[in-house]
Amino acid sequence: PKSAAESADPLIELSNVEFGYTAAPVVEDISLRINPGEYVAVVGPNGSGKSTLMKLILGLLQPDTGSAQLFGEPSRTFDDGARIGYVAQHASASKEMPITVREVVKMGRFPHVGFGILSGKDHKIVDEALATVGMSAFADRRVTQLSGGQRQRAFIARALAGEADLLVLDEPTVGVDAESVDAFYDLLESLNEDGITILLIEHDLGAVTDHAERIVCLNREVYFDGPTDDFVESDALARAFGTAATFMGDV
Ligand code: ADP
Repeated sequence: PKSAAESADPLIELSNVEFGYTAAPVVEDISLRINPGEYVAVVGPNGSGKSTLMKLILGLLQPDTGSAQLFGEPSRTFDDGARIGYVAQHASASKEMPITVREVVKMGRFPHVGFGILSGKDHKIVDEALATVGMSAFADRRVTQLSGGQRQRAFIARALAGEADLLVLDEPTVGVDAESVDAFYDLLESLNEDGITILLIEHDLGAVTDHAERIVCLNREVYFDGPTDDFVESDALARAFGTAATFMGDV
């Protein structure tokens, strides 16, 4: 999707964004443009402003200076939430609702149907979304009974059922067992090949450099933004993380 991506309007556009919870800014001078079809990972040490950046992108926080746009609209007024699938960290299941996977995925259809009544076509879309993420066999299982990786798949299926064109994932493999992590990234890759834009916040640098096409390396400011191969060759990692960081594991 690269050539289309270059010509299309950006899904996300931040221009010279600064934000602080108090007087001191935690992100500064952030300009970021993400085009349809891209697979972008945001990396940075703990406390570097990754979650804050995510909230600014999603319009949950507003910049102190600069501007944030989503799908060409100021994020402040953007209200077509179904276009964005958000997958949060799910390290523990304790706070999940005791509903089934299929019920979760059906929720993705709600913005598209009146009075919460799903048609045959909606049910078909739900079934397809379950199949795409490999969760058909678990459709009637309660979310609380799933493994971490299965739970993340269920939430991705909900986004797919909602016809999201952007998936935003915040450290999605925290709490996912090691064997399932690779399969999870394979799923993201195939969704991206199908045209879904992916914005991934990750602490696992190995996973990021194996899968994302583009890296944004953050530590209050953007230290690097470009192709993954260039990032690996650059000194941005050492500058942003300090010399202890490596590509071999978690930071
Ligand atoms: P990351 O996601 O990279 O770990 P965060 O965006 O969560 O970084 O945090 C960036 C900085 O902002 C940190 O210094 C953190 O302590 C601070 N911070 C985060 N959330 C809040 C908040 N709600 N109120 C005040 N300070 C916050």
